[in-house]
Amino acid sequence: MTSEQLFYDKKTGFDRLTDEDKQGIQTYAEGYKKFLDESKTERDAVLEIARMAESKGFRAWTRDDTLRPGDKIYRINRHKGIMLAVIGNQSLAEGVRLTAAHLDAPRVDIRTVPLYEDNGMAFFKTHYYGGIKKYQWTAIPLELRGVVCVCENGEVKRVQVRVGDKPTDPKFVITDLLPHLATEQMTRKATEVIKGEGLNILIGSVPSETVDEKCSEKIKLAIMEHLNREYGMTEADFLSAELCCVPAFNACDIGFDRSFVGAYGHDDRVCSYPAATSLFDLTETPAHTGVCLLVDKEEIGSEGVSGMLSQAFEWFMGDMCRTQGVELADCFAHSFCLSADVTAAYDPNFADVYDKRNSAFVNYGVALCKYTGSGGKGGASDASAEVVGKVRKLMNDNGVFWQMAEMGKTDAGGGGTVAKFMAQRNIDTLDAGVPVLSMHAPYETVAKLDCYMTYKCMKTIFEQA
Ligand code: MN
Ligand code: MN
Repeated sequence: MTSEQLFYDKKTGFDRLTDEDKQGIQTYAEGYKKFLDESKTERDAVLEIARMAESKGFRAWTRDDTLRPGDKIYRINRHKGIMLAVIGNQSLAEGVRLTAAHLDAPRVDIRTVPLYEDNGMAFFKTHYYGGIKKYQWTAIPLELRGVVCVCENGEVKRVQVRVGDKPTDPKFVITDLLPHLATEQMTRKATEVIKGEGLNILIGSVPSETVDEKCSEKIKLAIMEHLNREYGMTEADFLSAELCCVPAFNACDIGFDRSFVGAYGHDDRVCSYPAATSLFDLTETPAHTGVCLLVDKEEIGSEGVSGMLSQAFEWFMGDMCRTQGVELADCFAHSFCLSADVTAAYDPNFADVYDKRNSAFVNYGVALCKYTGSGGKGGASDASAEVVGKVRKLMNDNGVFWQMAEMGKTDAGGGGTVAKFMAQRNIDTLDAGVPVLSMHAPYETVAKLDCYMTYKCMKTIFEQA
């Protein structure tokens, strides 16, 4: 045998693309960019996915309905997660084919008592969410998104807040120190350059003209008057709010050749979007029921009622199984899950943290990860050789460009995904996703080819696995 037959060599996707792939890559990227701009928080993403699902014939499902092969259903979990399914021809006792991705992304959350005035300016105190490099979030335009549960006349009213995404909207900013006065700051460790308590968002500076002799904070008063006018809020309503600041950048092409997409929140919308759209695009009723899970709270450990650890998943699956008289445990035991999350793309600017032989490269296709984790594989799910073997063959048979990947050098750091929480449920699970440059930064970069191949990978799982 020749070395070509005997050696495993990773290859760029560019030398193998069909004309159909080339077209697919471009069309897909345009749809994905639109989705990104709409879906900067998990709440926004859920609304957008539900809207897309409805337009593809999915219906909001309650347990009382009966289900037939070909039925398309979804269920929203507390505004922050969504579960979608296309009922297959086979019994649920034969298992389902799952894709699981997350909709939350690192960001800066507004605190419960956030508003204060200091030396002629008003600010929001914040608490960052997920693993961020805090210094990256200063001196960039920010949008405010979220909901406030306003208590008014003994009623609780849910109000949407969305400021900064329309061209005429104002934006917000966290200020940084000028280099001229940063002699001491520049000697600090990167984790201390901007401290958690320093992530304060500038929101205004004009004092109220209201005559109120008791009030010494006229700028704060003006901000509350504005919020009261716009949203019916008083300061106490921040206590029952979920507001956050996200980067006010829209998705755009990167590079002369437009081969990349730059955007906030590729992690993990770059996997959430194909997880949903590959299910939407099924043209025939699949053999196995296809299920897409889009969850919240992955960035802080998958805890909470909207995270992957929540029994909301069992509730949905259990209800489906009951319509066929199937035990949920039987369904899980025969299921397969693609835990769809991003991985680190090899970056030559930081070559020393990667093991080149085991890294994901941009434009090499969807990255399959047998295990994630850190240290001695801590926190990894570690898919079995049998599972990886099956998926490898499936991808090869269906023209999906894929690469095997690990996050970085052993002991360089690491990270986990929802894979272990699916595996805990007795579901065979493999990590797979798009390689990302500058992961968790306010502006992340991915290659269009890899996005499209991840979509193709997921479609293959639903159709063939
Ligand atoms: Mn992720
Ligand atoms: Mn992440």
